[in-house]
Amino acid sequence: MLDPDSTAALSPMGEHCSKGPDGTPGRGTNPYACPMTVDPATLGVRLYPDPILRRKAETITLTDEVRAVARRMIELMHEHDGIGLAAPQVGLSWRLFVSFVPESDKRSASGEAPSAERTASAYINPVLSAPGGALVKYEEGCLSLPEISGVVHRPDSITITATGLDGVVFSRRGSGLLARCWQHEVDHLDGVLILDRMTQIYRMKNRGAVRDLETRWTAANARMT
Ligand SMILES: [Zn+2]
Repeated sequence: MLDPDSTAALSPMGEHCSKGPDGTPGRGTNPYACPMTVDPATLGVRLYPDPILRRKAETITLTDEVRAVARRMIELMHEHDGIGLAAPQVGLSWRLFVSFVPESDKRSASGEAPSAERTASAYINPVLSAPGGALVKYEEGCLSLPEISGVVHRPDSITITATGLDGVVFSRRGSGLLARCWQHEVDHLDGVLILDRMTQIYRMKNRGAVRDLETRWTAANARMT
C-alpha cells in the first residue's frame, strides 16, 4: 500500500514449501509457493496483471531465508514510498507482509489501538480478527497498481495475530490507517486487490489505467518469450 503522504502515484526452499497430496514437499498446486532458492537482491515489485497477484499465498515457516526476504521487502517498500508490501507483490506466494505506517499529526503509535507504527514490522502467517468500529471510506493505492486509486470501505479497527521475525507470535489491535494497511496486505495474501474492493465509480474511473497496465504487461511478457 502507498504512503498517503507521498506524492508518488497511488499501494525457499525447504521446510516452508507446501506439501502435495503425496506429502512430497514442493508439489502443491501453487507453483509459486516453492521456489528453489530466493535471492533477495533480485526481488522487485510485480505489477498487475501478473498472475501471482491473484493466487492465494501459502503458510510459511520462519527461516533465515524468510528473514532475508522480509528485510529486502522493507527496503523495497521504502524505495517505492509504500506503507505496506506483501510477498506476492515481489513474486513469492508466501503469507508474509511488511508494513510501516509512520506517525503523523493524525496518527499515533501509542494507545490501545494505534494507527501508526514506530518501526517497520514483518507479519508472518497473519490472521485478522474482531473487526470493529464504523466502516470507513478512504482512497487507497497499491504499489502493484501504479496510477490507480479508489475509495475502499473497511472497518476502522481490527486485531492481527502473526509471527514476527524473532519467531514470537504476537497479537495487536490497530485502528485507522494501520488497520487499513493490514487489511489491504492480508487481501494480497488471498489474491484480492483494491480493484475488487473499490466502489463502482472508481472502477469505472480506473478502467483506462487498468487496460494500460494489461497492455504493458502483455507486451513485456511477449518480449520475454
Ligand atoms: Zn497493494
